[in-house]
Amino acid sequence: MYQTKGIPIVVSAASGTGKTSLCLRLLETLSHAARSISYTTRQPRGDEVNGRDYHFVDDARFDRMIEDNEFLEWASVFDRRYGTGFLAVDQQLAGGVDVLLDIDVQGGIQIKERWPHALTIFLLPPSMDELRRRLLNRATEAEEAVEQRLAEARKEIDQGQQYDVLIVNDDFEQAAADLRAIIRAERIHNCRPNSLVQVLLNT
Ligand code: 5GP
Repeated sequence: MYQTKGIPIVVSAASGTGKTSLCLRLLETLSHAARSISYTTRQPRGDEVNGRDYHFVDDARFDRMIEDNEFLEWASVFDRRYGTGFLAVDQQLAGGVDVLLDIDVQGGIQIKERWPHALTIFLLPPSMDELRRRLLNRATEAEEAVEQRLAEARKEIDQGQQYDVLIVNDDFEQAAADLRAIIRAERIHNCRPNSLVQVLLNT
């Protein structure tokens, strides 16, 4: 069978847009796809497990990884650092697995610059009012913090215009279906004449 390289798929959104749940749903329903496990200097939360949710590392290790060029991208988000290890992603892609990168917009833009063939998807809330309502509903957020998050969200959404595709998360099932559809289209598009014919002729 034809075996082409996997596609890097970046999914970003302002916090409160429902990105985590949509990414989980995607991974349940997509075959030949895996999630990239990021490195972070923040502490584990709740039932998060090292090596499954994140690689939790200290600042010294993160600094070394930057020096040794081990990151595909990295960024500071809410005063903590987060980065994608190059090697693991590259190996998965080489094996024909599509890699889902649930990362922030600064990281997504870096990946698109380095890998123009990456598919970048930005999720939008139905409205700024709805985003405020969703953030207020999170018991963890004080009202002042919600206003700060909203200001952050505006900046992120503005940068999201640089992504390939924008999907509105109004209805969860519809947004999940749209995500699957765009990835399916990209998989077909990925079988461009040169890569596909080369695979065929090399077998
Ligand atoms: P949290 O701390 O809530 O897990 O994540 C905070 C933000 O950091 C989220 O927007 C998440 O997508 C983003 N993030 C997680 N991993 C990475 C990464 O490897 N690189 C970048 N740039 N952002 C990340």
